[in-house]
Amino acid sequence: MQKILVVGSINMDLSFECKRLPNLGETIISNNYKKYCGGKGANQAVALARLESDVTMIGVVGDDNYGHELCSNLKFNQVKTTGIRFSKEVSSGLASIIVDETGNNQIVVYPGANYELLVPDIDKLEALIVETDYVVCQLEIPIVTVEYVLQKAKQLGKTTILNCAPARELTKKILEYCDFLIPNETELQVITNTHYPLINETELITATQKLSKQGVKNIIVTLGAKGVLYANAEQTQFLKAFSVKAIDSTAAGDSFIGGFVTSLANGKTIVDSLEFANKVAAITVTRRGAQISLPYLYEVENYRFSS
Ligand code: ADP
Repeated sequence: MQKILVVGSINMDLSFECKRLPNLGETIISNNYKKYCGGKGANQAVALARLESDVTMIGVVGDDNYGHELCSNLKFNQVKTTGIRFSKEVSSGLASIIVDETGNNQIVVYPGANYELLVPDIDKLEALIVETDYVVCQLEIPIVTVEYVLQKAKQLGKTTILNCAPARELTKKILEYCDFLIPNETELQVITNTHYPLINETELITATQKLSKQGVKNIIVTLGAKGVLYANAEQTQFLKAFSVKAIDSTAAGDSFIGGFVTSLANGKTIVDSLEFANKVAAITVTRRGAQISLPYLYEVENYRFSS
């Protein structure tokens, strides 16, 4: 079985439901509080593991209650945690989310230990890169680390996947080290420095061609309910999303990555893997929440989509 290594963020999300959002300087009371394990790296690792991939995670959490809970959650989800370090100096990454009755929110993210994942960690854990087949990164850890991991992975002949979330400008080297660059529409706009929204197909294709010329081998732009655009130097292709009753798009992108890389690791073609990823992500948007909405393989295999 091919192995997948996720190098990325691990966060605890603290969610407070309130009648309305607080004004400047105001204290308000929350009528419901929930705590969720999250972080894009951890979400993608869990998405992969639920689809029965062999997945190991590299990341840093604080040596605190949240850190230990986050690590146990990964283990519980069958993600191998040999690459997780507990920082004595910095607390675990946290997100504080205030949601009002209409669904509007205010979010503060404290990257904490995630920003402690640096080049020496990657050197210490080089064996994990040597023994893997695929390396998956996102952008919630220091950009120097992302660049270093991708470079090392390429030197070792691995297949590299970068989900460019959250949106950030990328270095020329990062673009060259990516076998698959996977942004959504907003992220595509940021990395190509173009205006948003990219209103038509021609503009989308022009943006992907710009990335091709910069050395990216394969670009996959996720387009929400519209599906996905796949482009490389030779061709571009749109694949439609599956038709579902969407109720919450949280973790759609994370589940898409899980589906895509699982399928690639199972020896499927890129286009077949995109179809599978579309399926996995469509199921995710029919459910509320982040990790809790990520489907298991048997659910994907048995899901009946209306045509
Ligand atoms: P992100 O969550 O990163 O913003 P997108 O919104 O582009 O990513 O969604 C990722 C993928 O999730 C899409 O490419 C598609 O496969 C699936 N998806 C998202 N929204 C829907 C929807 N309303 N119906 C069906 N599939 C969806």
